[in-house]
Parts: sequence; C-alpha cells; structure tokens
Amino acid sequence: SSHLSNGEAKSFVEIPTIKFTKLFINGNFVDSISGKTFESIDPRTEEVAARIAEGTKEDVDVAVKAARDAFDFGPWPRLPGAERAKIMMKWADMVEENMEQIAALDTIECGKLYHWSKAAEIPQAVAALWYYAGAADKVHGDVLKMNKEFQAYTLLEPIGVVGLIIPWNFPTFMFFSKVAPCIAAGCTMVLKPAEQTSLSALFCAHLAKLAGVPDGVLNVVPGFGSTAGAAISSHMDIDAVSFTGSTVVGREVMKAAAMSNLKPVTLELGGKSPLIIFNDADVDKAAELAIGGIMFNKGEICVAGSRVYVQEGIYNEFEKKLVEKAKAWVLGDPFDPKVHQGPQVDKKQFEKVISYIEHGKREGATLLTGGKRMGNKGYYIEPTIFANVNEDMLIAQDEIFGPVLCLMKFRTMEEAIERANKSRYGLAAGLVTKNLDIANTMSRSIKAGTIWINCYLVFSLDCPYGGYKMSGFGREFGMEAIHKYFQIKSVITPIYNSPW
Ligand code: NAD
Repeated sequence: SSHLSNGEAKSFVEIPTIKFTKLFINGNFVDSISGKTFESIDPRTEEVAARIAEGTKEDVDVAVKAARDAFDFGPWPRLPGAERAKIMMKWADMVEENMEQIAALDTIECGKLYHWSKAAEIPQAVAALWYYAGAADKVHGDVLKMNKEFQAYTLLEPIGVVGLIIPWNFPTFMFFSKVAPCIAAGCTMVLKPAEQTSLSALFCAHLAKLAGVPDGVLNVVPGFGSTAGAAISSHMDIDAVSFTGSTVVGREVMKAAAMSNLKPVTLELGGKSPLIIFNDADVDKAAELAIGGIMFNKGEICVAGSRVYVQEGIYNEFEKKLVEKAKAWVLGDPFDPKVHQGPQVDKKQFEKVISYIEHGKREGATLLTGGKRMGNKGYYIEPTIFANVNEDMLIAQDEIFGPVLCLMKFRTMEEAIERANKSRYGLAAGLVTKNLDIANTMSRSIKAGTIWINCYLVFSLDCPYGGYKMSGFGREFGMEAIHKYFQIKSVITPIYNSPW
C-alpha cells in the first residue's frame, strides 16, 4: 500500500540559506513601508520557513512608479529586440546555474518534488526565456493593403506597465512564463507572487539585476491578494494585467480592472479536465496516464485530469489497475528522490481537499482507495479515487486541486462528449484511443483549450495554452503570449501618383 516516506530528520539535499525576503523595487531589496512581514510555512513540517516583507497598496504604488519611470524614460522599451534578447539569455544562463537553489526554495515553500523541479520545471522556465528572447527581434507590424490613394502599416508598441499576479503551484515556471513574453515585448512590470511562494521569485529578481535587466523594469512585491493583489488589478497606472489563479479571484481581478482604468486582463483560471479512455486503449498505459494526470504535483495543477471517463468494455480491468497504481504511489518528503507526492501547499488547501473527500462520501460516491491524511505532521493526503461518480455531484463539478480522482463509466462516444462538456470549466482534456476517427471527432467536440491524444500533461512553450468557458481567456505560451503585451497602432497616409 502507499506509504509515507517522511524522512524524519533525514536530509536528502542541503537546504540553501534564504537570502532574499524583501520587496524588490527599482533594483533594490527594501522593507515594506509598513515594516510588516508575514510567515511562509514549510508544508512538510508546518514550521516557519521564512519571514517575508509584506507589500501592501503603498508599496505597489512605489513599484508602479518605478515601472512607469522605467517605461517612460528608461532604455528597456527603446532597446532593439536583440539587445533585450541578449540580457534575457544571460538571465536564462544564471537561472540554469542556480537551478538547485531555486528548486530547493520551491520545495521548502510549496512541497514540490525537488528532483522534478530540477529536471523539468526550472528547465522549462529557462526555455521560456529562450523562446521569448528569440521572439524579441522578430515581432513587428504589417504593411496593410489599402486602395491606391492610401497606404497603411501597423506598429506594435509595448503596452506599458504590466501587473502580473501568479499562483503558488508552479512558482518558478509561472514567474517566467509571465515575465518572459512581457519583458521581451519591452514592457516594465510589477509582479506579485502568491503569498505561499515568494522566495524563488525574489531570488530570480536578484538574478535579473545581475544579468543586466535595468532597475525598475521588473519589480516584485510579495504580499496578500486582497491587499497587494487588489492594488495591482485596480491601479490607475497599470496598463494591463495577466492573472493566473482561481476563477473566483479571476472575477475579482476583472471587476477591479473594469472599475478602475479598463485595463485589459488575461485570466488563466481553474479546470475540471476530463480524461476519456476508449475500449481500444492499452489498459495499463491508460491507468498510468490517469494516475499521473491527477496525482502529479499532488493534484495542484489546473489541468489535472480530475474526471476520468472509461468506456464500459475495459472499465473493470481499468479500475483494478488504477487502484493498484494509486496504492503504489509513494508519499513523503519531496526532497527524497523515491517519493512521488509531497504535501499539499498549505493548511487551507489541505483542509479544502479533505472536506471535498468527506463531501464525496456523503453524496454517495464509492471511495476505492485513499481518502485520509497521511502521518500527523505535514499536509500529506493519500491518493484518493472515487468511483460511481456522476456530473451532478459536487466532487465532479468543483475543482478540488488535490489528489482526488473521479472515475466514471460511459458507453458511446456521443455520451462521452456530452458528459465531458458538462462542466463550467474548459481548460484541457485527454483522449486515449487508437481510432483516428474517434480522436478527430472528439478533439473537435470537446470545449477545452488543450487536447492531449494518447498523452497527458505534455507542455511546450510552442503550444498556446488557456481556457474556454470559466477557465478564463487569453493564451499563454506561443507567440500569442507576447502579443498580449503590445498595442497595435494603425498608421495611414495618402499616396500621391502611385503607379499601382
Ligand atoms: P487564488 O486565486 O486565491 O490566488 C492566486 C493569486 O491571486 C495569488 O497571488 C493571490 O495572492 C492573488 N489574489 C488573491 N486574491 C486577490 C484579489 N482579490 N485581487 C488580486 N489578486 C488576488 O488561487 P489559490 O486558491 O491560491 O490557488 C489555487 C487556484 O489557482 C486553483 O483553483 C487553480 O485552478 C488556480 N490555478 C490556475 C492555473 C492556470 O494556469 N489556469 C494555474 C495554477 C492555479
């Protein structure tokens, strides 16, 4: 059965000294104006990991002023794209060189698998810098075809000062997937990390300075959502906001943007993504995908495959394999290389997940495995699988954001389409089938921003990423992401005596 490898006092990795805990404004680490700090808790031990300067509205105002000055008068928006790219590449190198330190900070604050961060998350963050550095000198306007009396062209101008608000589940990747396109476009920014995970953002801001990002271009203000976060979304001198987090808060951000200066927003919100497995699937491989799809990162991933639909012909065999795999899934200290799953990020998320599990039992779903806390220290939750779930149940509707899988049986493709789309979310979906016709029909019928066929959780900077319905709007990654940070200006002028 799954077991807790909670390495007690055993240390797998040397934990770095925490150097940066203050606000990063205009190129300097400073205390908050109020002098207040808040505690960041290590979810492995429930002990204080760090005390971090608490930014509030006043600090956001100072950061916005620095970003505004850097945008209006500083070199960054005026540099040739290739010069910005050069500094971004240097920054990328420094992130790579400091990978262990950054990964350790994220593990301490968020309970992420340290070895996975090193192998995948931080390399992807570096790749985001490469990708948008490569784009920085290749984005430009068009010459527009008009009638012969006029000609026109478009200019792409950096949009200005941008507010970036990010969540805690992929602290380093979220940081760079927001910052890289924005900084490549020539914008300046104020970023608020999630209150659970400020340390890697502050560390990477320090590296930005060393790499040559000019003062004021990137400002990092840790603090809480209702104070520092709300100050960003409602700020009159921030020109655009990009937010990733919950649907509830996304709505608040959009409201605040509307009620202040009508700044454009992009929202990457929650999900309740279906993974749909057809009769012709390799059952073992499909069960492997399903377990990874929901348990990866302890279920704290917006595209988690939290609703698994299995066609009736293979259902029984699939259910058996799935439970076996859940039981073999190892919980424990996320620094331990043998571990598959660390603790949930904090007490609030832990309690939320447990209460959904209780609710699932009450509303009549069958608990196949898991369903409890593990150990008595740290926010560990057993991989949990519910069967006999239907779309009317709360556990099938709400994003639980934890290691909780809802298993469902279906008969026909038409039924699978209808039930998969029976969600207020539309972030991602997975299909497992060898039948090309099914795959083609399904991928065109499911209302979601990403469709994985015979794979799951495959991310690439090349692929635009974002939601349908209440999963938000706007796309991250790809060239779509950099275009969010430009104004498009049409310039029109008469032509005299054109021969054409
Ligand atoms: P959250 O929405 O509460 O917090 C996200 C960020 O918003 C944090 O930095 C927080 O401080 C800030 N914030 C909170 N209230 C704010 C306000 N009133 N104004 C401005 N900013 C505010 O999210 P959470 O509950 O901590 O994180 C889990 C949720 O995030 C999940 O529901 C998940 O779906 C979502 N999420 C989505 C994605 C995605 O890419 N779509 C990625 C990660 C997490």
